[in-house]
Amino acid sequence: MKELPDYSRRGFMRTSALGLGAGMGLGLGSFEALAQTAGRDIGTGQTPPADPLERRAAGRPEPELNGTLRPTPPEQRLGWAVCGLGHFAQNYAIPAIARASEAKLTGLISGNRDKALGVASAWGVPEGSVYDYRMQALADNDAVHIVYVITPNAIHEENVIAALEAGKHVFCEKPFAHNSAAAQRMMDAAKAADRKIMIAYRAHFEPNNVALKEMVRKGELGDVWYATSDHHRPLDPLVERDQWRMVRDLAGGGSLMDIGIYSLNGLIWLLDEVPERLVATTFSPQTEDGRFGEIEAIGQVQLVFPSGRRASISSGYVADKKRIDLWGSRGVAVLDPATAYSGNKLTLSNADGQEMPTPSKASEQQFVGEIDHFSKGVRDGDEILTPAEMGLRDMRLLEAINVSAERGEWVEVNPDGTMR
Ligand code: NDP
Repeated sequence: MKELPDYSRRGFMRTSALGLGAGMGLGLGSFEALAQTAGRDIGTGQTPPADPLERRAAGRPEPELNGTLRPTPPEQRLGWAVCGLGHFAQNYAIPAIARASEAKLTGLISGNRDKALGVASAWGVPEGSVYDYRMQALADNDAVHIVYVITPNAIHEENVIAALEAGKHVFCEKPFAHNSAAAQRMMDAAKAADRKIMIAYRAHFEPNNVALKEMVRKGELGDVWYATSDHHRPLDPLVERDQWRMVRDLAGGGSLMDIGIYSLNGLIWLLDEVPERLVATTFSPQTEDGRFGEIEAIGQVQLVFPSGRRASISSGYVADKKRIDLWGSRGVAVLDPATAYSGNKLTLSNADGQEMPTPSKASEQQFVGEIDHFSKGVRDGDEILTPAEMGLRDMRLLEAINVSAERGEWVEVNPDGTMR
């Protein structure tokens, strides 16, 4: 793969300064024009001339631009290829890439070429940038920098490694893998290829979750000695996307692996500590269609943290509810829903149960937020907030949970998720 252009702010300033010098009197580069258009004329009360050159000639100061307002021109956004064109890819991931400021859709990878060509045509991806899962040819496509893997959990590994071997960085859907050994192999492959992996833990970019995390960090809830986190959604064997979820070899597990991971990862992130002891139980009710024949429907785990705080988490494939409660001495914070695609809500109640107002923020930002974050991480070398190490830790914790459920006893775990 070719070296990425220097898109860091410093590199960009250098590039645009050169462009400006060369272009004086001929017009400004597209970034410069966009930046000036985005600027506001504060204080004069006059409407600024539309032509950016005229503004300069009139001696007006350059508008002070807030970095977050700067749109990145399309030719400078990182190219993303989506791998696996299923329900989540087509309905959420691809539209989010299209809305992102730092990314653009430049490739597709699919086992179904006809479907992929239809998606390519709808989103403006050239036919020559549609690949099958072998991905060798992707190595020659310099318009693709990042591959977003959205296939069934147990197939993440082969796709992630194929993308890394093609020289691409990888954004991998949760759960990272179907077990910790596969997660470790992907991390080894990333190291060998000198490429990055980020796990798509979208809650870390969801505004209500982020607001709650900040409240906990500032101690605004007081002492939080107890927390609950419950993630449930019905599994429907008649729906195509749920068919592989019933097959252990493809899903790696049941509700715990699929959405219980939000309960687990969310609490560890919000509370900023990894449990040191846990005990779990699982349950698979008998149904006529045998939907829970290979996987658990219900998972329930008690967690004890190094600070002493206790938590109770659950997952389920029956009800439809995603909720997190942090029980603090100065107030109880409730995220309900906590991890829906849209409409998440943070409510605070004081110890008397009185509701306190909280700002309502758009949850859809979570999808764009994680995509822009990884684009910047790849381009500028910024820290990745949900790295492969986090995905591996969670795989190990899920394994410890399963061991506990099988043995019916408490198990002790290290901060990296390995069992003691
Ligand atoms: P789907 O079944 O809708 O899509 C999976 C796609 O993977 C298929 O359409 C297919 O694409 C490809 N695929 C490759 N091999 C197989 C196979 N053996 N069986 C089935 N599909 C295969 O699943 P979802 O979109 O619901 O889930 C995909 C991944 O995304 C999972 O890891 C899941 O956990 C994650 N996810 C994350 C969500 C989030 O909120 N972050 C929400 C939903 C899912 P093609 O035909 O193009 O080859």
